[in-house]
Amino acid sequence: MAAPLVRNCFKLGRNVVRPWSLVSAWKVQPSLTRSITSEAAAERARANGVLYAPLQTFTEEEAMMKEAVKKFAQERIAPLVSKMDEDSCMDESVILGLFEQGLMGIEIPEQYGGTGSTFFSSILVIEELAKVDPAVAVLCDIQNTLINTLFRDHGTEEQKQCYLTRLANDMIGSFCLSEAQSGSDAFSLKTRADKHKDYYTINGSKLWISNAEQAGVFLVMANVNPSAGYKGITCFILDRDTEGLHIGKKENKLGLRASSTCPLTFDNVKVPEKNILGQLGQGYKYAIGMLNEGRIGIAAQMLGLAQGCFDNTIPYTKQRVQFGKRIFDFQGMQHQIAHVATQLEAARLLTYNAARLRETGRPFIKEACMAKYFAAEVATLTSSKCIEWMGGVGFTKDYPIEKYYRDCKIGMCCLFPWTTNIQLTTMAKAIDQEYEA
Ligand SMILES: Cc1cc2nc3c(=O)[nH]c(=O)nc-3n(C[C@H](O)[C@H](O)[C@H](O)COP(=O)(O)OP(=O)(O)OC[C@H]3O[C@@H](n4cnc5c(N)ncnc54)[C@H](O)[C@@H]3O)c2cc1C
Repeated sequence: MAAPLVRNCFKLGRNVVRPWSLVSAWKVQPSLTRSITSEAAAERARANGVLYAPLQTFTEEEAMMKEAVKKFAQERIAPLVSKMDEDSCMDESVILGLFEQGLMGIEIPEQYGGTGSTFFSSILVIEELAKVDPAVAVLCDIQNTLINTLFRDHGTEEQKQCYLTRLANDMIGSFCLSEAQSGSDAFSLKTRADKHKDYYTINGSKLWISNAEQAGVFLVMANVNPSAGYKGITCFILDRDTEGLHIGKKENKLGLRASSTCPLTFDNVKVPEKNILGQLGQGYKYAIGMLNEGRIGIAAQMLGLAQGCFDNTIPYTKQRVQFGKRIFDFQGMQHQIAHVATQLEAARLLTYNAARLRETGRPFIKEACMAKYFAAEVATLTSSKCIEWMGGVGFTKDYPIEKYYRDCKIGMCCLFPWTTNIQLTTMAKAIDQEYEA
């Protein structure tokens, strides 16, 4: 167990360096037709009146961020992955590094100390982190696509000043929806909040709360009017040191072991009315909106995981010699490798497309479900195939492949928001509507 972190905030050194912020191009307005890798081609396309760029075209800012995160992940995270997995504990230097690099407040406006970047950049960051350690990507994903988004979209100015500034710089947030009896059926939750003069008392419990071990703030969904059903669900802001909030022992998990997942109990927790986030009874709407975006984050995690696993495996197949040949040169191997590479490319396109739709304010729910569903399947296929391609060594802890195999299972079964079956149901609903007479 890690030593308790002082007040659950992470002290940054004086000389914080966020590499991309030093480059003048950082301030360039994003434009989908710009790419540092294909500027001349984009110029020609513009001249010919073609305004559309391939999905894997990045703005200068996005490309720079992707490169900087790749370097950070290789240098600061990779050496610690195996130990963090074995100890079931995120190294404090990794958390500190994420804050230093501005990766915990990617879309938080600069006026609140954030990086002031875009949703698409968050997706690229999550993908790059997951290539090296999916557990670290979970931390970054939840903070950026769930917690920060909720505060940004629904917080009062006072709440933004108080929390966004911390979330960008030294505080982790947890999102608390699931309970023992309400998983997929999340809005049948039983935690309730009873009103007294200008405060509420919260009683109940939550399960599976990611990052709870390190979190300084919890966004808790509780029902203020159970007789109104899900329309009573309200989002409350709880500081970690609030009396009556208990954080239980973390789960001993199959994968994502460095990411903490804990139960919470609320025993007459007194919360001032001003700690309601957004409107009374609107919590379910906020959760749905945010979890829809969250699906794209999970897709990026699964995509990164699959790519990282593939990248760690192919070099081995090019070195390992059997029957006097590299195993990569057998046609039986080549066809499998080409198939997995194609699946990876398709998962990437689905994920980037969903992210660009969300960023440009167009409908994206069906596409986000498809991206999450498909990317999780591709991660499962890739990590399973990679173990096979590595032969016996793929089955050992001397190589990182078995960890990707364990980490990927969460994408299919239960990493919130919602399981594969629920993604498929949501997609089917959208298709049903599209074909309505
Ligand atoms: C590592 C981890 C981290 C998590 N982090 C968080 C977090 O930070 N915050 C949070 O609030 N929650 C979190 N969760 C909880 C997660 O959201 C739930 O586990 C998930 O919603 C599934 O709920 P459940 O586990 O109760 O499974 P159940 O809902 O009991 O589902 C069991 C099975 O039944 C199937 N099923 C259920 N309903 C239907 C249906 N209508 N049609 C078809 N099949 C159905 C499911 O697909 C699944 O296969 C986390 C979970 C894990 C494991």
